[in-house]
Amino acid sequence: MTVLAGILTLGGAGWADQEVRDIRFGVDGERTRVVIETAEPADFRAFTLDGLSDRLVVDLPDMRWSVTGLAAGEGVGHGLVDAFRFFNNSAASSRVVFELEHPAVIVSQFALDPAHNGGNHRLVIDVERASDDAFQSASGFALGHASSLDSLIAERVEAVYVPPQRERRVVVVDPGHGGRDPGSIGTRGTHESDVALEAARELRRQLEATGRYEVLLTRDRDIYPSWEQRVGVMAEARADLFISLHADSSSSSSVHGAAVYTLNDRAESRARQRARQDANHTAQVDVNNILVELELREKRNQSSAFAEVLLEHLGNAGPLLANPHRQANLFVLLDPRVPAVLVEMGFLTNRTDENNLNSASARRRQMAAIVSGIDDYFANRGDDVFADSDTIALPAR
Ligand SMILES: [Zn+2]
Repeated sequence: MTVLAGILTLGGAGWADQEVRDIRFGVDGERTRVVIETAEPADFRAFTLDGLSDRLVVDLPDMRWSVTGLAAGEGVGHGLVDAFRFFNNSAASSRVVFELEHPAVIVSQFALDPAHNGGNHRLVIDVERASDDAFQSASGFALGHASSLDSLIAERVEAVYVPPQRERRVVVVDPGHGGRDPGSIGTRGTHESDVALEAARELRRQLEATGRYEVLLTRDRDIYPSWEQRVGVMAEARADLFISLHADSSSSSSVHGAAVYTLNDRAESRARQRARQDANHTAQVDVNNILVELELREKRNQSSAFAEVLLEHLGNAGPLLANPHRQANLFVLLDPRVPAVLVEMGFLTNRTDENNLNSASARRRQMAAIVSGIDDYFANRGDDVFADSDTIALPAR
């Protein structure tokens, strides 16, 4: 019972004395130090989801947030930390979630007594950018000779994958976060994990109602599947499409609207470069180059084309964020064998968006737009995505 242990360490201090008074950051080379200052000594537990994640979570006993200048419990980080937010996640516990700019590992965590009489107690967590090795071992992708993140991506990109012919298209819908990871927290306390699940269920209902789709959810309750498990559902089903549903947050309450993410172009061009180097060792250099290029372009285009179609329909149903087609190296998009996008349905930090994300009718409208986008994508894509590579003219030798 961590909660009991937390209470025991208070040493008779009043419950009301438990408060977070400051959060500070320090950067030393590759290492970022996070310091949480509290009024009284406190049990705490710091962890990254799945041991390696772009999110650092610190669980604390129930505390009041009393950091000068940060009344909302949110702030901007430093070093590896992009941003953080504090919330009371149950009657007996509080949590600080740090969004990281890159997957990281915790190298140490410890508590320090006040530096002087009347000073604050300090909880110290040191994190470091995860190495490619750590990334790979934690990701669970056993790839034999693949030795870095780049080659992991390259392996993924090079894999030739054509979904089987089926009566109904298989769409995997991934409600973001869940379980111990609530994701973004709204101004009114809405959890991203909850609205993502509601939206996924609505999307499944509407897609199945067309009779054209079979829909699989990566989770259908409040649990946290690892990104590897989420991608695993897609791979096992040999899905035709993968859609991850999220809701965003911003330090500005006026930022609102939906956006769609696809895999970062840069990651793919690195993968392409490596594929080209490998092809150089074979006799048929030119032919291989062309085939590799075509395959890569086709795969990227499938995700990007779907993102574009989706945005057209989402834009008819509600506001979009500026430059709504965005790119990022998000874990769930890393397997490009299946066209994959991540939809940020809106901002929980914006009042109107948060209301819409909680409204059944607004949810029906937005999911209907996604269904039209999916219909449109499949109607225009056809089934012969690799047909062009048979007819391409090879350069004269
Ligand atoms: Zn999210």
